[in-house]
Amino acid sequence: THFGFKQVPKQEKVALVRGVFDSVASQYDVMNDLMSMGIHRIWKRVAVQLANVREGDSVLDLAGGTGDLTKLYEKRVGKSGQVVLADINAAMLRTGRDRLIDHGLSGNIRYAQVNAECLPFADNTFDCVTIGFGLRNVTDKDAALRSMYRVLKPGGRVIVLEFSHPIDPITEKVYDFYSFNLLPKIGAIVAKDEDSYRYLAESIRMHPKQDELKQMMENAGLERCEYFNMTQGIVAVHRGYKF
Ligand code: SAM
Repeated sequence: THFGFKQVPKQEKVALVRGVFDSVASQYDVMNDLMSMGIHRIWKRVAVQLANVREGDSVLDLAGGTGDLTKLYEKRVGKSGQVVLADINAAMLRTGRDRLIDHGLSGNIRYAQVNAECLPFADNTFDCVTIGFGLRNVTDKDAALRSMYRVLKPGGRVIVLEFSHPIDPITEKVYDFYSFNLLPKIGAIVAKDEDSYRYLAESIRMHPKQDELKQMMENAGLERCEYFNMTQGIVAVHRGYKF
C-alpha cells in the first residue's frame, strides 16, 4: 500500500483495524456514548485542558476519527489557530468532516488521511500533537511516538488519551465483567457487530500499563512525561514535551 507497511503480520493487523473502523464508522458516536455512559465526553475535556494550548496554536489530532477532540481544540486555538484532523481510515474521516461542517466549523480545520507511524508533515510543525483512543490501535507504537515527536515544535506537547489499567482490584473486577460480558452484547445489539467490540476489549487489555507508556514516550525523546489517571485508571492522559 502507499503507506509503506512492511511485514505481512503487520499488514494483517492494519487491515483488521481498518476493517473494524469501516464497520463501526456510522454507529461510532452512539456507541461511544452508550459504552462509556457519556463519560468519554469528560475524559476528552480533561485531555484538552491538560494540553494547555493557546489561541493561534496549531494542533494535530491523530486518529481523530469523528472529530470530538478536534472540536474541543478548535475552540481553544480560535480562528488564528489551526487543527488538522488526521486518521488512517477514510470512512471515519468523512464522517468527522461532515459532522464538523454540520457544527458550523471548518475554516481553520484541515483533514489528512495518514498513518500515525509515518507522518507526512515537516519537522517542528505543531504546538500540540494529540491522539485520543487511537495509539492502542497503532501497530508500531514506538514508531508512532517518534513520528509525533518529530513533527512537534520545540516547546510543544504530545497528549495521549487512552484506555489504561484500573488502579484498584475492585474496579478491575467490575470492569472485566463489563468489557468481556456486557460490552460484546451491547455491540451485537446496537452495532450488529459483536466481534469488533470483543476486539476492543482485548486491545485495551494488551495496551501498555501507565508506567510502561510513560517510558515509551521518554524513549521517543519526550521530556517531563507524566500521566493523569481518570475513572480509577480505566482511562489515562499521558503528557510529554519536546524541548
Ligand atoms: N479520537 C477519536 C475519538 O476519541 O473519538 C477516534 C478514536 S477511534 C477509537 C480510533 C481511530 O484510530 C479510528 O478512527 C482509526 O481509523 C484510527 N487509527 C487506527 N490506526 C491508525 C493509524 N495507524 N494511524 C492513524 N489513525 C489510526
